[in-house]
Amino acid sequence: MVTSVTDDAKPLNTYVVMGGTFDPVHAGHIKSARQLAEVMDYSCIHMMPCGDAYHKQGVTNAEHRLAMLSLALEQEARLAVDARETLRDGATFTVETLKQLRQELGSNAHICWVIGTDTARSIRTWHHWQKVFELANVIVIDRGADVLDISETQDWPATAIKDKTIFKQQAKGCFIQLALEPVEVSSTEIRDALYKQESVGDHVPQPVMNYIEQHGLYRGKN
Ligand code: ATP
Repeated sequence: MVTSVTDDAKPLNTYVVMGGTFDPVHAGHIKSARQLAEVMDYSCIHMMPCGDAYHKQGVTNAEHRLAMLSLALEQEARLAVDARETLRDGATFTVETLKQLRQELGSNAHICWVIGTDTARSIRTWHHWQKVFELANVIVIDRGADVLDISETQDWPATAIKDKTIFKQQAKGCFIQLALEPVEVSSTEIRDALYKQESVGDHVPQPVMNYIEQHGLYRGKN
C-alpha cells in the first residue's frame, strides 16, 4: 500500500489542510500554520474546522467555532478558512473530506493533512484511517517538546520523507515530520482558564476574545 516516491520536479497543484476542532482557535494553531507556510513555502494553509465532532464531547457548535476561526484569520495573508466540514450533515470523517478534495484537484495534486503529535498518535482511531494515506500525505508538527518517534509510525501505510522538495512532489502516501518553534497552549487550557475567569494572555486573538465575550462562550464547565 505504500506509494512509490517520485522525484519528478514538476510543481503540483497543492492543497494543505490543518483540520481541527478549533474550540477555540489559539496561538498554537495560528503560529504553527504560519510557520508551516513559511518553512514549506506553501502559499496557503487551509484551516478546516470539523462539523459534528463525534470524537469529542461537549464541543461548541460549529457556527461559533467557524466564526471565531474566520475572525482569527482575517489579517493572515497565507491562512484561509475552509468551511466545508461544517456544512456537511452528520459525522465528519477526514477520509470523506479527502475523497472530495482528491476529486476536485485531480490525481496528481499534492494534498496534505496537517496534524500535531497528539493527533498523530490517535490517527488509528479515525474512520478508515489507512485510507487517509491513499488519498493524501500527512504533515506531523511536533507539539512543543512532544516529538513523535519514528517507531510510532511503523504501521502507517506511508513513506517517511525528510527532504521538503521531494515531499512537495508527492501526491499522496507520504509523511514528513516538522519541528517548528513550539507554542505550548491547547484549547482545553484556554477553555479552563475562561471558565475560571483567568487571563488567557495573548494566546487568543483579540477579535476572538471579543466574540467569546459577546456570545458568552466558555462560561459553563466543559
Ligand atoms: P483540545 O485541547 O480541545 O484537544 P487542541 O488545542 O488540541 O484542542 P485542536 O483543534 O484539536 O486543538 O487541534 C487541531 C490540530 O492542531 C491538531 O492536529 C493538533 O494536534 C494541532 N495543535 C493544537 N495545538 C497545537 C500547538 N500548540 N502546537 C502545534 N499543533 C497544535
